[in-house]
Amino acid sequence: VRTTCPRDCYDSCGVLVVARGRDVRVRGDPDHPVSRGTLCGKCSTGYNREWLDPTVRLTRPLRRVGPKGTGAFEQIEWGEAIADIAAKLGSIASESGAHTILNAHYTGTISLLAGIFPMRFFRRLGAREVAPDTICNMAGHVALRYVYGSSADGFDPRTIRDAACVVVWGANPSASAPHAHEHWLGGAPCPVIVVDPVRTETARAADLHLQPFPGSDAALAFALLHVMARDGLLDRRFIAQYVLGFEEIEPALRECTPAWAESVSGVPGELIERAARMYATGPSLLWLGQGLQRQRTGGNVMRACAMLPALTGNLGRAGAGFLYVNGEASRRGIDEEYLGRVQGAPPEPAPLSHMDLAPALADPATARALIVWNMNPAGSNPAQSRLRAALAREDLLTVVVDLFATDTTAFADYVLPAASFLEFDDVVLPYFHLAVAAQAKAMEPPGVALPNQEIFRRLSGAMGYADHELFESDEDAIAHALDGGSARFARLKRHGPEFVSREPRIQFESLQFPTPSGRIEIASGHAEADGHPRVPQPWADARPAAGRLRLLSPASPWLLNTSFGNVERIATRLGPASIAVHPADAERLGLHDGGEALARNETGSLMLKVRVSDEVPAGVALSAKGRWPGREPRHWNVNALNPGEKSDMGESTAVHGVEIELRPLR
Ligand code: SF4
Repeated sequence: VRTTCPRDCYDSCGVLVVARGRDVRVRGDPDHPVSRGTLCGKCSTGYNREWLDPTVRLTRPLRRVGPKGTGAFEQIEWGEAIADIAAKLGSIASESGAHTILNAHYTGTISLLAGIFPMRFFRRLGAREVAPDTICNMAGHVALRYVYGSSADGFDPRTIRDAACVVVWGANPSASAPHAHEHWLGGAPCPVIVVDPVRTETARAADLHLQPFPGSDAALAFALLHVMARDGLLDRRFIAQYVLGFEEIEPALRECTPAWAESVSGVPGELIERAARMYATGPSLLWLGQGLQRQRTGGNVMRACAMLPALTGNLGRAGAGFLYVNGEASRRGIDEEYLGRVQGAPPEPAPLSHMDLAPALADPATARALIVWNMNPAGSNPAQSRLRAALAREDLLTVVVDLFATDTTAFADYVLPAASFLEFDDVVLPYFHLAVAAQAKAMEPPGVALPNQEIFRRLSGAMGYADHELFESDEDAIAHALDGGSARFARLKRHGPEFVSREPRIQFESLQFPTPSGRIEIASGHAEADGHPRVPQPWADARPAAGRLRLLSPASPWLLNTSFGNVERIATRLGPASIAVHPADAERLGLHDGGEALARNETGSLMLKVRVSDEVPAGVALSAKGRWPGREPRHWNVNALNPGEKSDMGESTAVHGVEIELRPLR
C-alpha cells in the first residue's frame, strides 16, 4: 500500500507498507519525488516496531481506577466510555458553560480528517480551544500577516533551480526536514547561507554560516540591509511600487552597521558584508524557520527578517521568495475549512494560549474538563511542574485520545485508543512542498482503536446532536473537501502525490499582497493598533544575567515533538538527556564532558549529562526537546525549566528565551 507520513514534518515522505502474511514492513517509497525511497531514522524505527505492536499500543478504552497520575485504569467498552464522557460533558456544559471544557490538540497526526474533523464536535459543543499554534509558531504567523497579509503562502521549493542564493534562517532541516536537508539543500545549484546560533549539520554543510547569539536576529537583519542600502543593492524601483513604509526604517538602517551588529550578535562584520552581497544579488530564497520566532521578541524578529525579500525585490519571480509554512490549502484544491465547519454552532469562546494552560487548569472556574487529542502536553508544554499539579486535580474531567500510554494519559479519567495513520484513509497537505497526497489504509487498527474522527462522531451521537456534519463519513468528507472528489483521492492513492502545477509556482506572482494597502507593509497600521511598533525594530535581547546561560531546546533528529519518545531503540540510541555547552563556559563553570550537571532556574531543575562542544556560542546551552518525562530518571524533561514566557506576538511561546544556571554535580 502506498501512503504518506503525516507527522509534523516538512518532508511528508512517501511510505510503502509491504505485507507478506503477518510480516509487515513500513518503508520509504522509491517513487516518491521528495523522500526518494527512504524514511527518516525515527520513522523507520518506530513505524516498524512500536506502531505495529499491539502490546505497546493502546487497544481498548480505559477508565481511571486509581489516583490521578498513577496510570491505574480498567478496560471498558466503547459504548460505556462514550456514554460516560458524554454525560459528564453535558453536565459540565449545563452547570458551568461549555467554555469550561478545554480542547487541547496539535500536530500528533496532521492528516486532514484526523487533524481537523474533530473540531466540528468541539465547535458544536462550544468548548474553548487551546490555540494550537501558541505552543509553536504563532508569533511568526502574526508577524508575517502584518507584513505580507499571509504567513502560509511560501515559495515553491522547486523554484530553487532558478535561485542564485538560499538563506535558511533559524531552521534546522538536518533534524526537522531530513530529506529537504539532503536532497533540496544538498542539491542546491547555488550557495547556501545558514543563520543559526547552533552549528547544526545543516549549518556545517552550508557555504556560509552566521552564528548570532539567540535573540539578536533582528539586529542582524538590519545590518544586512544596512550593507545593501550602503552599496546600492536595494531594489528602489520595487520598493517604490510595492512596499509601504520604507522611509520609516531608512534612518535606522543607516545606524545599523556591521560593526554594531557584530557587537550585539557576535557575527563578524566581514561575514555580514559577504552574506548581504550574496543575498542581494539574487534571485534568492529565504526559509524562515519556526525556531527563529520562539523568542521574547520573536514577532519583531520575523518582521525584521521579512524585510529582506521586500527591499531587494526578491519576490514575484522564479528563484525568489520566502517560506515560513506552505499552508495554503485552497490553491491545492482543498476546502480545509469545510472539514472543521458545523453550521449553526454557538460563537466560539476566546481561545487560550498554551502558555496559560497550566494556570487555567489549576482554576476550577476556568477549566472543569480537558480533552486532549493529537498532543502530549505533559511532555511538550511549559511549566511542567505546575501543569502536572493542575492535571492531578481530581475534579478535572480529563479525556485523552492517543496511540500510546503517555505522560498525559497517566492523568486521564478516560483514555481512548486512536488508530494510527497506517489504519485509515486520509489526505496529507505537506507544508513545505506544494503538493497533495493520500494517506491510505494499509491494515486494521489493533484491538478496537478508532480514528480520531470516528471517536468524535460517536461522542456527538452520545451528546444527542443531530447536525449532519458531525456524522459525515470519511469518504464523503474527503470527497467534499477535495476538488475532484473521490476520483482524485483514488488517483492520489494509486499514483502518489500531485503537485499544484507542472512548473514551479511563483510566489506572489501578481505582486498584489493581501494587506490593507495591497502592498508589503513594512509600516503596519494593524501592528500599531495591536500595540506593537509601527515598523520592525533593530532589537537584540539583553544577554543573560551574570552566571546564567541562554537555553535552546530545539528538535532532535530522533524525536518529533514528543512522538517516538517511547521507541526503545531510539531511547537506547539517545542515551541520557544531555546539555551542550561551549568549552569556555565549561571551563568557567567547572563542567566536564560526560560529567553530570544540574540545570536550574526559578521554574525547575534538571539533571543532565554535559557535552562540551563549540557547536553553540559561549553563553548558550542546548538540550533537545521531546523526551518523555515519565521515562527519565527523575520524571522531568527540558520543559521543567521553561516558565512559559510569551513572545511579543500571538501569545506564543518564547521557549528559546529561557535562562538557566548550570553547575557540576559531584
Ligand atoms: S517524520 Fe518526516 S522525515 Fe520522517 S518519515 Fe515522516 S515525513 Fe519523512
